[in-house]
Amino acid sequence: MKTVHHTLIQDTPGDQLQLVSLHFGEPGRGPKVAIQASLHADEVPGMLVAHHLRQRLLDLEAQGHLLGEVVLVPMANPLGLRQWGLRGFQGRFDMNSGENFNRRYADLCAPVVAAVRDKVGPDAQANVALVRQALQEAVQALQPANALEHLRQTLLGLAIDADAVLDLHCDGVAVMHLYTTPATWPQAEVLARCIGARVALLAEHSGGEPFDEACSQVWVDIAEALGAEVPLPPACMAATIELRGEMDVRHELAREDAEGILRFLRARGVLQADDKPLPALLCEPTPLAGSIPMAAPHGGMVVARCEVGSPVKQGEPLIDVIDPLSGQVSTLCAPVDGLFFAHDCKRFAYKGMALGKVAGREAQRSGALLSV
Ligand SMILES: [Zn+2]
Repeated sequence: MKTVHHTLIQDTPGDQLQLVSLHFGEPGRGPKVAIQASLHADEVPGMLVAHHLRQRLLDLEAQGHLLGEVVLVPMANPLGLRQWGLRGFQGRFDMNSGENFNRRYADLCAPVVAAVRDKVGPDAQANVALVRQALQEAVQALQPANALEHLRQTLLGLAIDADAVLDLHCDGVAVMHLYTTPATWPQAEVLARCIGARVALLAEHSGGEPFDEACSQVWVDIAEALGAEVPLPPACMAATIELRGEMDVRHELAREDAEGILRFLRARGVLQADDKPLPALLCEPTPLAGSIPMAAPHGGMVVARCEVGSPVKQGEPLIDVIDPLSGQVSTLCAPVDGLFFAHDCKRFAYKGMALGKVAGREAQRSGALLSV
C-alpha cells in the first residue's frame, strides 16, 4: 500500500489541509476501483467501512490476491470534518459558499469530446483508453480557485479513470440503498447484490452534478456526443452507497459492508475470485424520480410510526408531526406504494422540512431530484 498526501490550496494563511489516499496494487495492472468515504463529513459509517477495508486490503495484498488497483480515500472531506460548532457537527455544506460538498463536480463531456473526436475509431477498447486519458487530462486542466474546488478536483482525479467508483455516504435513519445511472445498472446490479441493497435508485442526470454522475454518466454523454457509429461502452460504473443511517456506526455492520465491497471487487476481477456465488438481489431498481419525499406541513415533534425497510401502501401512516403548542397532530402518509426506506434522524421539524422517503416504482418527479 502506498499513501499519498494531497495538499489543498490554502484559503487562509497557515490553513494547510491534506487529503490522504491509500493505493493498493499497481496502477495500470488490472481493473481499477476507487472508493471514498464520508464526502459528507458528518456521515461517519463510510469512514468505519474504509477502516475495515484498509485492514482487509492490506492482508489480501500481502497474500498476493490483488489483481487490480484499489484507491481508497478513507476520509474524503478534510474541510467538512472541521465543521464543529456549539457541539453540533455539520459537514454537508461548505461554510463559505453554502455549496453541498457532493454537488458541482465538473462535467467533462465537452473537453473530452473535443480532445478525442479526431482520434476515436472502430475499436471500442481503444476508444475507452483514449477517453480515460482525456478525462484525466481534463481533470488536471481544471483551475481550482479555492480549497473546496481543489478538493473536488483532487477527488475527481483519483477516480475519473476507474472502472468502478464507490462513494460511501449514509442517510438519517435508513436501510442500505444506492444511487446509480441506468446505463450501468447491469454492473451496479452486481454491487447491489454484494452489499445487500434494499433500494436501488436510478437517474441519468439527477441535478446538482454529484460526484458519482461526474464519473459515470459522462461516458454516456460522451458516447452520445460522438455518435452511434463510434463504439464506446459506459466504462465507469459509479454508485453512491448509503450505508443505512448516521447512527449505524458499528464494527459488525462495517465489517459486513467491507466484506460486501470485497465481494464486488472479486466479481470485478480486482481481487482473485473465489467459488462463492453472488448473493440474491434484494430489490428491483426503481427510478430516482419515483422516490417521493414527504415534507412537514408545520413545525413540530417528529414521531415515526413505521420502521424503515417496511413495504407500504399509499395512504399508510408513516410519521406524525406534533405541534407542541396547539397540540395539532399531522400524519404523513405514504405518498405511493413502495418501500419506506429512509427518514431524517432529527426529531423536531420546521415547516417544509423533508422528513422521509418512499421508493415507488413509477417516475413522478422531474427537475432536481436530490435533496439539498
Ligand atoms: Zn451524503
